Amino acid sequence: MSEHPSDQTKLRVIYVAGYGRSGSTLLDIALGMRPDVFGAGELTALARHAWKNGEYCACGATVRACPFWSSVMARAGGSEAQDMLDRLADLQQRMEALAASRRVFARFLPASRDRYHQANRALLEAVAAQAGQGEIYVLDSSKLPGRALALASMPGIDLHVIHLVRDPRAVAWSMSRPHPKRIEAGVQRELRPKPAFYVALRWSMVNLVCEWLCWRLVRRWGDGRTIRVRYEDFVADPPAVLEAIRARCAPLLPGAAADGLSEVLRPGHQVAGSRHRMQASLVIREDHVWQRQMPEMARRLVSWITAPLLRRYGYMPGTGRGEEGRAAPATRPGLVENKGVGAGR
Ligand SMILES: [Zn+2]
Repeated sequence: MSEHPSDQTKLRVIYVAGYGRSGSTLLDIALGMRPDVFGAGELTALARHAWKNGEYCACGATVRACPFWSSVMARAGGSEAQDMLDRLADLQQRMEALAASRRVFARFLPASRDRYHQANRALLEAVAAQAGQGEIYVLDSSKLPGRALALASMPGIDLHVIHLVRDPRAVAWSMSRPHPKRIEAGVQRELRPKPAFYVALRWSMVNLVCEWLCWRLVRRWGDGRTIRVRYEDFVADPPAVLEAIRARCAPLLPGAAADGLSEVLRPGHQVAGSRHRMQASLVIREDHVWQRQMPEMARRLVSWITAPLLRRYGYMPGTGRGEEGRAAPATRPGLVENKGVGAGR
């Protein structure tokens, strides 16, 4: 087993891995309300498209005009910020693909790997430095398991992974509806409806890779840095799930896990993620719309394709708290529906 990474560095990253529309942006905002966690949103998007396409930060400014991200890029790239991000985007393309396993890194791409590590370290250090004094965890909810694998290979990184899952029928329902491109509203490209069978297959594949990722991290660093969280449990009882994350995945966070969490969430500077980050405030609530409106055939198809993992994650009747995707009822009166959002409706 290699040296424990937290022995070497102050570069601390909590990574949210999982499939799309699983509520990662909401989790990012909630956990990012802690003073010692900076919720960066989908950080992989900064170099890929958010900076150069003039996309919007959760604070309401474009990423280039945002005081936080413009300062980060001044620290990380100076006057060559755009060049630095272009190079990083190119490296991300190669390094964060699922195929970029450790074997590929080791045999064929050592130069790219080293440049990827250098550029990411510069960026992550700039984010942590800009986010505040003291020990800051950068919360990266990029979701791609390949990015987590690539980050895990960085020397000295102190990486913690939250594997976030959501009922695939809710995900398929969310992805069955189109959204037109509205950059200022946080929708960076037109979202076309995706067929249920496609979502079910992708959901299964991505979650299996996330499981493999967590298994690899446990093998390498031991227990205590990965946790699987169901979105439905998070929205039912956010403080309890944040505490579980602290206890099982980021034990260095001091105090109660829900420090800074309030009934009304206020997005910070999430650089990319779901469109809900563009709301000035939001309230966590449960979302059962799919259970009422999803066509029976699509629901059955998704259930059939994803059956093994549905059972494993407790979404089948009799296999856990979730009955047909319904987590335990909300236990806090504050979890109300008025202006709240679920993940990706
Ligand atoms: Zn901002």
